[in-house]
Amino acid sequence: MNIQRFVELAKESNVFHEGEVKDIDGIAKLLSPEKPLLYWTMEFYDKDENDIKGGGGLGILAADTRRTAQQLGLPMVVVTPFYTTESHQTLDNFWQKEEHRAVVPGPEYRKFCNTSISTICDTVVPLDVYDRTHGSTRIVTITEPNFGELYPGSNSGDHRLYQEVALGFGGFKALKMQGIEALYMQLNEAPTVFAAVARLDDLMRTEKSLDKALETLRKQILYTNHTLVPAVEGEFNRAQFEHFVYPNIFSGELKEWINGLFNHEGRMKLSLLTIELAGKKSGVSKLHARVADYRDRYGSKVDFEAVTNGISRKWILPKIENYYHISGILNAADFPSNDYQARLRMLDMNTVRNLRKAGRDHLNTVLRRRKNQYGHATIIPQESLIFDFKRRFAGYKRPDMVFNDPGRLAHILSSQNAHLIMTGKPHPNDEMMKQELKRILTLVHHDPVLRDRVHYLQDYDEEVGQALSFGADCAINVPIVGEEACGTSWMKDIANMKLLISTPDGGVADVQPIACLEVSGENETESLYYNLEEAAKIIRDDHAYKRELVRSLSAYLPVISGPRMMAKYLQLFAQE
Ligand SMILES: *Cc1c(COP(=O)(O)O)cnc(C)c1O
Repeated sequence: MNIQRFVELAKESNVFHEGEVKDIDGIAKLLSPEKPLLYWTMEFYDKDENDIKGGGGLGILAADTRRTAQQLGLPMVVVTPFYTTESHQTLDNFWQKEEHRAVVPGPEYRKFCNTSISTICDTVVPLDVYDRTHGSTRIVTITEPNFGELYPGSNSGDHRLYQEVALGFGGFKALKMQGIEALYMQLNEAPTVFAAVARLDDLMRTEKSLDKALETLRKQILYTNHTLVPAVEGEFNRAQFEHFVYPNIFSGELKEWINGLFNHEGRMKLSLLTIELAGKKSGVSKLHARVADYRDRYGSKVDFEAVTNGISRKWILPKIENYYHISGILNAADFPSNDYQARLRMLDMNTVRNLRKAGRDHLNTVLRRRKNQYGHATIIPQESLIFDFKRRFAGYKRPDMVFNDPGRLAHILSSQNAHLIMTGKPHPNDEMMKQELKRILTLVHHDPVLRDRVHYLQDYDEEVGQALSFGADCAINVPIVGEEACGTSWMKDIANMKLLISTPDGGVADVQPIACLEVSGENETESLYYNLEEAAKIIRDDHAYKRELVRSLSAYLPVISGPRMMAKYLQLFAQE
């Protein structure tokens, strides 16, 4: 597809109004391979297609953003580190262990140049730059043999800062050598801010003053925040900046200006620097943009535009995606067509059942080659229903909620002939959630019904996430309300015609009231159990199932569309 066709399809779809389409069109015309959208990200997770396994949800989103840009013919360069160590989960008596594997960029990458950064101790740290082209997009990845793993040590540590500086300054230099202009830069979270600092330093050579350079820069930088509050973020001190950052900045005035941003304890969070440099700021769902609590250097609350995350086609079973297109529900750019709701009401349940069965077949294949908590393959009878919980084991996502009353869960699973498949890793430093995982798996082990019907898949990754999205029947998404910035795995569930049980949080709450089985009220656990039983009944009844699918797809197809997200970002760049 070329950009012009994409703009036409955006116009036809009714997702955007006239003025917005004009903006999108305007900016699309300015983009070219030499003036692409530059997307900076410390996480990029696309092992399947691009052999990079950097991160979790944030990295998945970055990979989806690139894939969507390619589909739409949008010039985009993703700049991301290549981490030389990859982490995998194994279980030892239900206790999580991390296994580290050394990795190098595969032969599909071209080593296209060298770049470097400076530090106080080593005047030059050489960096290798690899790249790979996919249609209108390109991945540029920065590394060196000792680059290390993603998130080494504390997030205020020296090595972390070094990696961030290597990406920002090193990446900026590499692109400049290639004649790529940094006119539109999206910073996927604050640790990529050094790309903007490098650009500002470069502008200082041509602009008359720092103020002028800042004014020019701010129009071109979009900061996309994915975190709710700055509390969890790392902080760096002046000495660290003097060691790693300042040796890469030419302008003394700029160094002075950055020095002015440290607090009275001589520390700074990168989000503050990012807020000061980015003229455009976005949050990743309506709720998140509203509640994200950040201040600028004068203490004023920062306004975030809401651009809800979207997903790429990768996460939709090809047969289902094909169905959306031939039935005119989605247009060629994956925007909902202007009459998609009427078309959804013509959904034929025989077709839906056949599509869902194809999804289940795919899941079965993956279940056969992956390990459960006992290190075995998983076999689930064809007539059983499958619930899934697939997400990082973070406290706020509440993987434990469904186990609050194990007897009740056992009763529901056996009376509804259902299985629960769980997957997701605790963060390596999150001892509490590792303990929680062990507790849950032990509890399951000691209950004969649960042992039969609850399966934990080791080493959650794209393959497992995708297979469960394609082939399970109903997903459980129960973050503490107000703590999930957006979440994308629930989007994968909706897109694949599954049922969703969810709290009204993140992107799910973009639509009010939420259009799925809602967990809410005084007793959320009770509400969850009630909805598990409801879901089982709905799935077995064509009429009820269709009503639920029409309701959730009508509400969420515009939300989950990756091209909708992309078009929104273009529009932000267009705004003065
Ligand atoms: C989709 C996906 C994620 C992101 O899920 P969230 O809902 O945003 O937490 C993370 N990891 C994998 C492997 C995924 O497939």
